Amino acid sequence: MHYTGTIWRPPYEASSLLLEVTAGCTHHKCKFCTLYEDLPFKFRMSPLEDIEADLLEVQVLRHDPLAMVSARLQGIFQPEPIRRVFLTGANPFVLKADRLLAISDLIRKYIPTNETIGCFARITDVTLKTDEELKKLSEAGYDGLTIGIETGDDEALQFMNKGYLAADIIEQCKRLDAAGISYSFFYLVSISGAGRGEIGAKLTAEVCNQIHPKLIGANMLTIYPESELYQEIQRGTWAEESEIEKYKEIRTLVDNLTIPTAIAAMGASNAYQFYGELPQDKEKLLVMLDEIIESNREAELRHYRTHLRHL
Ligand code: SF4
Repeated sequence: MHYTGTIWRPPYEASSLLLEVTAGCTHHKCKFCTLYEDLPFKFRMSPLEDIEADLLEVQVLRHDPLAMVSARLQGIFQPEPIRRVFLTGANPFVLKADRLLAISDLIRKYIPTNETIGCFARITDVTLKTDEELKKLSEAGYDGLTIGIETGDDEALQFMNKGYLAADIIEQCKRLDAAGISYSFFYLVSISGAGRGEIGAKLTAEVCNQIHPKLIGANMLTIYPESELYQEIQRGTWAEESEIEKYKEIRTLVDNLTIPTAIAAMGASNAYQFYGELPQDKEKLLVMLDEIIESNREAELRHYRTHLRHL
């Protein structure tokens, strides 16, 4: 398989087939981000021949007698059919609709059991497509996009160079809703900075309450020295929230969400991991977050953050 650099995927895509169709990020400007720094280029599109070769490799492995014997020796008697493919790279949804459709055709040819195709997407990737193209992509199996909106706080979005505003999130997600393409969000706790977290959480809830994210995954900002944001902190132009403030921020987000959705903290950036569905789990989640806030374990949580070598 062709895999380039560190491969990032959401925790809930653990059982999806990871297929490289891009590497890196077309935007590459968010001040806090160091995710694709290990690549010698900003963004690269995989040749269709490489994608097809990978799909062929998967198909052969699924039917190869030696691979089957090896699987049996490992106690795997009947491998589950592949039902979902996750395209890798920071924003494969930026590819032109024709190319995404060529990729879904190849997936269907080599993995006929596959049902849906997911990937990371930027809000600006949706802007680039017509309503008709979105509909065709939906019909071709594109569903369950993961969009790192980070926040609905325009001040933070602008400061961090995200390249879109809260109104764009609402507009483009409504277009995804109309096309039948579902999506989940990543929310970056502390992106609004010290003293503004709860404002950012309320603004984000206002955005989310107008659209239909399946899940909102909270990730806690963890700042590495290679990031532009680290330089801002050194210059005294930006300050991070305390760890307890970060939990107050998540609490405010949960408290202000009025839509049915799931909320989770699942990645390594979260010292406490949780999952709950709204509205039914709201009270349980608020009690759990209150306990963390009242425990006042700032030093312990800070130690976790500063010793997190990788996200
Ligand atoms: S869009 Fe995502 S991957 Fe690209 S720079 Fe921003 S946070 Fe990093």
